[in-house]
Amino acid sequence: MKKLFLIIGAPGSGKTTDASMIAEKNDNIVHYSTGDMLREEVGSGSALGQEIESYISKGALVPLEIIVNTIVSAINNAPVPNVLIDGYPRSEEQMTAFDELVSKEDNIELASVIEVRVSEAVARERILGRAAEAAPGEGRSDDNEDVFNDRMKIYTDPLAEIQKFYADKDLLKVIDGARTLEEVVSDMEAFVLSKI
Ligand code: AMP
Repeated sequence: MKKLFLIIGAPGSGKTTDASMIAEKNDNIVHYSTGDMLREEVGSGSALGQEIESYISKGALVPLEIIVNTIVSAINNAPVPNVLIDGYPRSEEQMTAFDELVSKEDNIELASVIEVRVSEAVARERILGRAAEAAPGEGRSDDNEDVFNDRMKIYTDPLAEIQKFYADKDLLKVIDGARTLEEVVSDMEAFVLSKI
């Protein structure tokens, strides 16, 4: 049985860093980031990777089937029972598809959906700062102002529906992501450990 925590947050919320630090500190927790898994596929140079890059570079969501396959295989192949996945769901369609899947799957229990909340101003400052710090050729294709605006809109548009859906199931946990990394991580870690 896999206990699953989904972590959502705006680009720049710090969700990937937070979750990877928690997994590093705890042997029984593993973390996967949807963005990292997709970028890995892009890096492999496969045909699927090329298709994925055409969405990522525009800040658009990759198609439902690709992202669902990606996370389901990550969960099933996870070597430990507690799994953090950040970056999912990002649309109502993804939320509904996953809800149906989990209701049929005896092997996966959704323990919580954690929202790492930051203001748009904080998100923008962090993303554009990350772009400025990247070595030439090393930065992400989607860390620039135009794509940031699209990514932010794509994140924000379905957010109220996603929050309501999980709040109604008593599964939504909001964490203030505007604090220091240490504070956010310790808060999130304490919450995750209380649920496993
Ligand atoms: P991130 O690293 O979380 O900022 O994600 C980078 C990009 O990967 C996004 O802008 C999307 O193009 C793609 N991506 C990540 N997660 C998802 C998802 N759940 N559904 C569709 N596309 C995604």
